[in-house]
Amino acid sequence: LELRVFPTSFAYHRATSVDDAVAVLAANPDAKILAGGHSLIPAMKLRLAAPGMLVDLTRLSELKGVTVGPDAVTIGAMTTYDELRDADGIAELFPSIVEAIGVIGDQQVRAHGTIGGALAHNDPAADLTAVFLSLGGSVVAQGPNGERTIDGDDLFVDLWTTSLEVEEVITKVLLPVPGAAVKSAYRKHAHPASGYAVVGVAVAVDGAGKASVVVTGATSKPTHLAAAEGILAGATNLDEATIAAAAEAAPTGLELNPSPYASEAYLAQLIRVLTSRALTQAVSR
Ligand SMILES: Cc1cc2nc3c(=O)[nH]c(=O)nc-3n(C[C@H](O)[C@H](O)[C@H](O)COP(=O)(O)OP(=O)(O)OC[C@H]3O[C@@H](n4cnc5c(N)ncnc54)[C@H](O)[C@@H]3O)c2cc1C
Repeated sequence: LELRVFPTSFAYHRATSVDDAVAVLAANPDAKILAGGHSLIPAMKLRLAAPGMLVDLTRLSELKGVTVGPDAVTIGAMTTYDELRDADGIAELFPSIVEAIGVIGDQQVRAHGTIGGALAHNDPAADLTAVFLSLGGSVVAQGPNGERTIDGDDLFVDLWTTSLEVEEVITKVLLPVPGAAVKSAYRKHAHPASGYAVVGVAVAVDGAGKASVVVTGATSKPTHLAAAEGILAGATNLDEATIAAAAEAAPTGLELNPSPYASEAYLAQLIRVLTSRALTQAVSR
């Protein structure tokens, strides 16, 4: 096996606006968007990706920033992990986002990686994908025919695959402002070599019917733990016994992706333990 550590040659276009990016993507079907570059560039160096052109969004300031509205929080797709964690209102409204960002990669990854890139890349072991889904998020994507909103449940299709068209740019991420009773948390067991999630569990619960529990790492895409959600949604009190029952049921019906590091039984046990820890952390808030 020949080890290559440099990409194949490619053209480069620095986008001047989202319209410009969409037009260049539509005219060059082998082009790819460059955001933080922390998934795409490694994939190009390993020759797992060989785009003919990169369309660089990094200078588009209109894709940056966080706005807290009365009903929804709007996050520009090019907002980095660091900028998102530190934005006004995020820690109070979404503690699970802060917890997830705290365990993503290293400081360089957090300074450059973007929320739009993380969601578009849909790595099966990504952290923010599960948190986004647990918070009921959606994305706004702009393509040649204008904008459309894609619900989180419709965005993630399979390993590294989303329902985005190749010429579509995620411009915004929308998160509904949670009700006062909603509590969220994220817990992860990181692979000791890569730091990526072997299993991560994101929860958002209010003890009055709202229960969102989403796993990453163990499955081909972020997936709702429906059995746990059912138990939590039917409970009026998120006490220890309810959390234990939800955690025990959490892996039910999942199609798990074992690896040499983690067998199916180990993944299922991690899901139980991390569901319990995330729920316990959330209700303590
Ligand atoms: C050493 C290292 C450790 C890491 N550890 C973790 C970890 O622990 N947890 C974790 O979750 N991630 C981890 N990552 C990945 C990191 O979070 C990436 O930054 C992220 O997955 C992709 O974001 P990006 O902005 O870098 O996107 P890029 O790499 O620039 O792009 C990724 C993909 O998304 C597409 N894309 C980007 N932006 C858009 C957009 N606005 N609209 C449509 N398509 C778009 C690109 O074309 C490309 O296909 C790690 C990365 C490295 C290098």
